[in-house]
Amino acid sequence: MENKKELRTWLDDFKLNHPLVIAGPCSAETEEQVLKIAHELKDTDATVLRAGIWKPRTRPGNFEGVGALGLKWLQKAKEETGMLIATEVANKDHVKLALEHDVDILWIGARTTVSPFIIQEIADALNGTDKIVLVKNPVNPDLPLWLGAIERLYTANIKKLGVIHRGFSTYEKTRYRNNPEWQIPIELQNRFPDLPLICDPSHIAGRRDIIFDICQTALDLNFDGLMVETHYDPDNAWSDAKQQITPTSLIQMMVDLKVRKATDTEADYRNALNTLRTQIDVVDHQLIDLLGKRMKIADNIGELKKEKNVAILQTKRWNEILGKMILEGEERGLSEEFILKMFKAIHQESINHQEKIINS
Ligand code: PEP
Ligand code: MN
Repeated sequence: MENKKELRTWLDDFKLNHPLVIAGPCSAETEEQVLKIAHELKDTDATVLRAGIWKPRTRPGNFEGVGALGLKWLQKAKEETGMLIATEVANKDHVKLALEHDVDILWIGARTTVSPFIIQEIADALNGTDKIVLVKNPVNPDLPLWLGAIERLYTANIKKLGVIHRGFSTYEKTRYRNNPEWQIPIELQNRFPDLPLICDPSHIAGRRDIIFDICQTALDLNFDGLMVETHYDPDNAWSDAKQQITPTSLIQMMVDLKVRKATDTEADYRNALNTLRTQIDVVDHQLIDLLGKRMKIADNIGELKKEKNVAILQTKRWNEILGKMILEGEERGLSEEFILKMFKAIHQESINHQEKIINS
């Protein structure tokens, strides 16, 4: 991926003074639905209409999309509104049909990015296309797998590439449907600063109320665009009902979001600083989360010690931990003094936790 400038150009071609917005329903449901939502979106910041027509559902029995028929509806929406159209492709037959129907943006879903065979098949089917191809991250937090998919497409001579961050699946239930793990798109952006990076807050959130915050974080991290599931009647959507928002909410969200523009050197500095600060915020959240997890484990040890009537302070074990952490800290440029201070504080908090348990 040598010529990074070329990767960027397709986004500059839109000549937008705001982030690229791709909006539309999770799924195309009926012709009327597609046309109605397209008309409601056409005068908003959304340039591109999205709608899934082949839906990869986790379990059978749910609505699996209307299939190729939906491509005609999208084409009609494009004719009537002038919006560009985007849909998900998950195999070579989808690619063929999407190209025949002049779909402007083809995206590859999270469940497809995990499979190098399918990605290769799609890349071969797309070879040399001048359509825009967006690659969602794989469902699992694996940056090389994501990069591998991008490389396969790049090698197939597809130059208008971009990526979509839609969060990562976890077994543990969190406030997100798919954990954002912002450090992964940040790393990708550091490696390929000119590859357009779009955030899909809808699949990260899984719910309406946190979509705004996710979008703001994405913009603060210099994402280039947003893909937001939008439906005129979200509660009655045939798929992903909880996470879709109305066109009215989308318009309001775009007004409320703080979009930073680089206009002069002062703004450049502020932008760079803001991006780095948001990166720090992301890491700080992870630190707190991990510390919370560590204390929960300490609580469990406290329970065990209580049951067996064992002392809280185990000096040998504690010295082993310290020794190991000093070495690991050194490898990461952290001073011994800092490691000692930090671990003493962590250790003290663990002891406080365990004391509470043992004396309860
Ligand atoms: C979608 O965009 O509707 C979709 C299925 O997304 P993902 O591949 O991120 O799950
Ligand atoms: Mn969806």
